Amino acid sequence: MKELDYKNKKLFFNHSDISELAKKNKTPFFLYSEEILTKNYSDFFYGAVNSGLINPLVCFALKSNPNKELLHILASLGSGADIVSGGELKRAMEAGISPEKIVFSGVGKTEEEIIFALKASKTGIFSFNVESIEELELINQCAKKLKKKARICFRLNPVVQPKTHKYISTGNKTHKFGLLEADILDSLHHKKYWTHSRLVGLSVHIGSQLLDLKATKKAIIKLCDVALSTKAPLEFLDVGGGLGVDYHPDETQKLPSISEYMSLVNETLNKSFYAKSELRPRVVFEPGRRIVAKAGIFVMKVLRNKISENNHFVIVDGGMNDFMRPSLYGAFHDLVPVKEGKSENPCHIVGPICETSDCFGSNRLMPILNTGDFLVLCDTGAYGYSMGSNYNLRGRPLELLIGKNKKIKVINKAQSYLELS
Ligand SMILES: *Cc1c(COP(=O)(O)O)cnc(C)c1O
Repeated sequence: MKELDYKNKKLFFNHSDISELAKKNKTPFFLYSEEILTKNYSDFFYGAVNSGLINPLVCFALKSNPNKELLHILASLGSGADIVSGGELKRAMEAGISPEKIVFSGVGKTEEEIIFALKASKTGIFSFNVESIEELELINQCAKKLKKKARICFRLNPVVQPKTHKYISTGNKTHKFGLLEADILDSLHHKKYWTHSRLVGLSVHIGSQLLDLKATKKAIIKLCDVALSTKAPLEFLDVGGGLGVDYHPDETQKLPSISEYMSLVNETLNKSFYAKSELRPRVVFEPGRRIVAKAGIFVMKVLRNKISENNHFVIVDGGMNDFMRPSLYGAFHDLVPVKEGKSENPCHIVGPICETSDCFGSNRLMPILNTGDFLVLCDTGAYGYSMGSNYNLRGRPLELLIGKNKKIKVINKAQSYLELS
């Protein structure tokens, strides 16, 4: 991870001495950098602007990291939000994100959540990204009760197959997400759905951790085709999120740069939509991982070593309840010792949870690690704390932020197991 480096054998993240922080604070903890977060958001937003896209709206996907302080920073940079629950809507608004910049995705929106979103402002939220016809009916009914007009965007299922893990792929017929073209076009003929709703956009989101943009391009072409077929005066086209990061060195080569990605979006929209229409809908993005994954690390303490014949286990105090991706998806995350040494011992880095899948890395080459040494799990800013749980009745970990002035701030206190009821 290029955001980490050793000075005098000590590991630094964004110019902060990790061992110093680890000695002062309760491990394990997440450590974020305001500078990296800000840079990632700005690179994304200005990448869109510089590629020629008009008035782009970047809606940060809250589910990747809903920490209040991080959201506050993103809100101050002008970010919008992609939310998938009432809880996330409340959080986004509390962080200062205007409802006019909020899109609401997800297949299971409840009546209560829909009403909350309609009441969020005079015009409700920017858009309900609708995933079924029954949902459209319910939103229309709720808007009628409130004497409002709901802003609707259909999430198109573009029937593409991106190259990513099957659990984070969402754009094919067998997936629960989005609506097929025929169903979208058919709904437009039924006036009953539209008495209190208005179609203002169309969206796609085909999956996460995308490194190959072929399926993305196909999906955007399909989005444009269907958008033209609706003949509706659309205000925006939402190209979703999903742009990947390099967790493994092998991925660094494949990683699309922001400018490559934005050029692809811009060229595809130009060719497939703007060249064929008078309308100039703005572009909406829903990135999560690309903004926040590299802005955070997870710091753990070594509890002890255990040797079973040829297997050397290093047992750490962080577990799969704190960071799930390796156990849930078999995801690779780099592990880096906080004290520099010769990495020559293959070991399994495992947590305290009573599950064999509670393993952050197998056969990783490490220096000799002793009780009390610290270890960093890299690239854990996205889908880290937000996917965590109290499994095994463990308290949730501390979250720290390296501020712009390099001051360290507690942005979420550690939860003790004594607080669990
Ligand atoms: C999860 C999700 C995103 C964000 O995905 P990333 O891979 O984190 O960019 C965007 N839009 C929708 C609808 C999602 O479900």
